[in-house]
Amino acid sequence: MGAGGPDDEDHRWPPWLKPLLRERFFVQCKMHADSHKSECNMYCLDCMNGALCSLCLAYHKDHRAIQIRRSSYHDVIRVSEIQKVLDITGVQTYVINSARVVFLNERPQPRPGKGVTNTCEVCERSLLDSFRFCSLGCKIVGTSKNFQKRKKQQMSMASDSEDSYSSSSSHGQYMKTKNNDNKVQSFSPLYTTSNTCWSPGSKAKKGNPPPSPNGRANNRILEH
Ligand SMILES: [Zn+2]
Ligand SMILES: [Zn+2]
Ligand SMILES: [Zn+2]
Repeated sequence: MGAGGPDDEDHRWPPWLKPLLRERFFVQCKMHADSHKSECNMYCLDCMNGALCSLCLAYHKDHRAIQIRRSSYHDVIRVSEIQKVLDITGVQTYVINSARVVFLNERPQPRPGKGVTNTCEVCERSLLDSFRFCSLGCKIVGTSKNFQKRKKQQMSMASDSEDSYSSSSSHGQYMKTKNNDNKVQSFSPLYTTSNTCWSPGSKAKKGNPPPSPNGRANNRILEH
């Protein structure tokens, strides 16, 4: 991953990858509905014409076809097959039926477990250390420029909102200095009264923010 033009995004992945991930497998073949061998679990990387059954595959003799397998209702591909045609670095692999596989797409999950240290950068599924993505689909999303831009924005937004929160909590302080500057001496008794009402009071135990009625009252007065 280096610097590159906007064209980079389209050429980052082989053309068949996204159609492959969108495809539904293990459905009855429409062309060969009468055959009992017609479950579609193959995909031709050269034709990209959808899921193929074993009879369909006869028309793709010299093509690069890849077999999709199932693991608890999710589509997987053997690492030995996919890594010949795709860089799967960062995607977690699983051993299922003594074969190492990767998942095509993210799998719905209740919520990330507690105490999990490493999660998929996209869907937050818990992963073994050293992996970044749970599936090929999450790798496409997670390595796209848009996603990384959005992630950066979210992070900066999070810190922004923290800033505005801390500044709003010191709002009372700000109002006081402003009042003093604005030669509104007549209001300061109001300020002091409510302030003394509040601060030695019993409510202040838990470190509540400064009384907002105070600031609001000043605001109202300043409007006139
Ligand atoms: Zn077929
Ligand atoms: Zn083909
Ligand atoms: Zn994921």
